Amino acid sequence: MKWQGRRKSSNIEDRRGQSAGGFGGGRGISPMLLVPLFRLLFSKVGLVIVGVLLLIMFLTGTNPLALLQQFVGGEPQYAQTTGYQPSPEEQELADQTAVVLADTEDVWNKMIDGYREPTLVLFSGQVQSACGLSSSATGPFYCPGDEKLYIDLSFFEEMERKLGAGGDFAQAYVVGHEVGHHIQKLTGTMEQVNAMRGRLSQAEFNQLMVRVELQADFYAGVWAHHTQRSTGFLEPGDLEEALNAASAIGDDRLQKQATGRVVPDSFTHGTSAQRVRWFKKGFDTGDVRQGDTFNATEL
Ligand SMILES: [Zn+2]
Repeated sequence: MKWQGRRKSSNIEDRRGQSAGGFGGGRGISPMLLVPLFRLLFSKVGLVIVGVLLLIMFLTGTNPLALLQQFVGGEPQYAQTTGYQPSPEEQELADQTAVVLADTEDVWNKMIDGYREPTLVLFSGQVQSACGLSSSATGPFYCPGDEKLYIDLSFFEEMERKLGAGGDFAQAYVVGHEVGHHIQKLTGTMEQVNAMRGRLSQAEFNQLMVRVELQADFYAGVWAHHTQRSTGFLEPGDLEEALNAASAIGDDRLQKQATGRVVPDSFTHGTSAQRVRWFKKGFDTGDVRQGDTFNATEL
């Protein structure tokens, strides 16, 4: 997938390295204090202080750094307050994700009048959204309450390692799928489905959810179709990557991996074959009107 040098979306909220509470906090040595502290350390006065501290340590058996810490105040706190430092690989993944989000904006702005661009939240570990507290284990998700997409980029690594679904376009497909849920929010589909929740049995409702998920796959395909037409971003093997990912994260495969058997009644994402079929239908047609999974006689 060609993505370098293309527009990155500005609708990215980077919450990596933040605790889910979001308030960080805690006292510690502030960066403002570090420079004068270092100057002091290398002055004559500083050498005397270090000497005295070493002497105290020698006489009392205490740690001089702990004494210094007490002097400056507070418990030491590191990553939480000083900001997150991603590895170069991680930052590349974040940049790539921002380009894919921009591509979805370009496509859906043209397809839907008054399209509201969703925000993509990058997080690590746990995140607080209008849908409650979620952990990375949930996988990427869309929260209709705040119209934001939530992704812990380590999911992509896991997709590759545990499900054998690697590749940049496989990752792009996941973003396209979550944006697909946003389209369902905007078109009112999500609301209609939620209204059915209390009126159906659990098994019936799960069947409805399968159609919701397959339609999001279809929308991901529609997005890829139009981005390909305007940018030619796909490279040989990319489509196979996405289809492989769609098939690898089908519920039947996920359940088989987790429990060793398949229980069709609890499917909420669709089988591997269904996911591949709907993504491909969107990709081949690029026509949103073809994505009515709710009235399709055959999934
Ligand atoms: Zn989904």
